[in-house]
Amino acid sequence: MTPLLEVDNLHRDYLLRRAPWQRAETVQALAGVSFELRAAHTLGVVGESGCGKSTLARLLALIEAPSAGRVRLDGEVVALDDARALRRARPRVQMVFQNPYASLNPRQRVGDALAEPLRLRGRGSAAERRDAACAMLQRVGLDAAHAMRFPHMFSGGQRQRIAIARALMLHPALVVADEPASALDVSVRAQVLNLLQELGDAFGVAYVFISHDLDVVRHIADDLLVMYLGRCVESGAARQVLDAPLHPYTRALVAATPRLHRSTARVVLAGEPPSPLHPPSACAFHPRCPHAQARCRAERPVLRLQGEQWVACHRADEIARGVLG
Ligand code: SF4
Repeated sequence: MTPLLEVDNLHRDYLLRRAPWQRAETVQALAGVSFELRAAHTLGVVGESGCGKSTLARLLALIEAPSAGRVRLDGEVVALDDARALRRARPRVQMVFQNPYASLNPRQRVGDALAEPLRLRGRGSAAERRDAACAMLQRVGLDAAHAMRFPHMFSGGQRQRIAIARALMLHPALVVADEPASALDVSVRAQVLNLLQELGDAFGVAYVFISHDLDVVRHIADDLLVMYLGRCVESGAARQVLDAPLHPYTRALVAATPRLHRSTARVVLAGEPPSPLHPPSACAFHPRCPHAQARCRAERPVLRLQGEQWVACHRADEIARGVLG
């Protein structure tokens, strides 16, 4: 069966000029990311800030074009310069942002905001679109009467519910959620995450769920992709990766998450990630890795299957055997 989403060797470079008189430098925000996502499944993407996960989100949501590589949706290549493919793909892919207030027009009533995606595609009459908006508001736990209000009249959690409702109005196959609950109070966070999960099951939606919170990802994701400086360093079934991480970076992230910490993960993550402007040679994690050897500074590790996980580490086999502790 064709996966819903196939991401093949995705690259994204940005040109950065620190001052007008200086030469532009290239920042590799994504340096070759590949994965597949099945329909109605959730892929968690984790890593420290600057690892490229938000860039990946924008590329998957068809907001930006990759510098190289391909995205296929239902087997069809989607490129921003292919208007016909884009017209077919756009309603199938929606995005939920971290800050719901920024993604809603403050001068637009919530009901109009929800009906707008339908109106732009000529779906239904005005009355049908209004009914659909009210029904979706109720589906996300709000009141149909809220359709007449403006975004500033809601709490942060309610606004995120509205943003989720808007993303689902076209019944997309894929929702890219970039830290959708991290700006919310802890008490509201769980409600919004449960809502996303419940709606995903009800509508058969697949999620790419970007987060820095491994605990949340363990709760919500089927599969997991761990990123470091624009590359995937480990991937596999979310519970498998988080219960028995094999890459020293994943082990350090798990060790820093008290509720996930197992005795297998003793690596402490020291210092900040290096600048993507000047990434370390070979294994980019070597300056922070307690297991780094000469080979790690000379040769970039590629993703290899280690048991049931894909790991980019020269010493994954030793870690799997418990030799490195
Ligand atoms: Fe550490 Fe070497 Fe593995 Fe990189 S390749 S994560 S430096 S052991």
